[in-house]
Amino acid sequence: MGNAHYTVTRPDGEQIEAGYDVAAVCEQDGCTLEIDRGLAYLCGSTPGTPEDGCGGYFCSRHLYTDWEMPSDEPQPQNCLPCIDKRP
Ligand SMILES: [Zn+2]
Ligand SMILES: [Zn+2]
Repeated sequence: MGNAHYTVTRPDGEQIEAGYDVAAVCEQDGCTLEIDRGLAYLCGSTPGTPEDGCGGYFCSRHLYTDWEMPSDEPQPQNCLPCIDKRP
């Protein structure tokens, strides 16, 4: 319900259209792969201003799950800058 199309506010205050119905291009510099703004392409675990990502949208080649700690929780996917920022 409501996942196809919604508005979120990014960490920089910009409001964007999001949802798996919204066509977009990977936000990685130089990457032109077409994606959508569904959760599958989100950096972080929640749209907008996730605590564990930047809220950007990236293609599967520019999203990484790189947790070394085993966990039962689903792990968020992150873009490379966010992976680098991890402690
Ligand atoms: Zn990110
Ligand atoms: Zn990409």
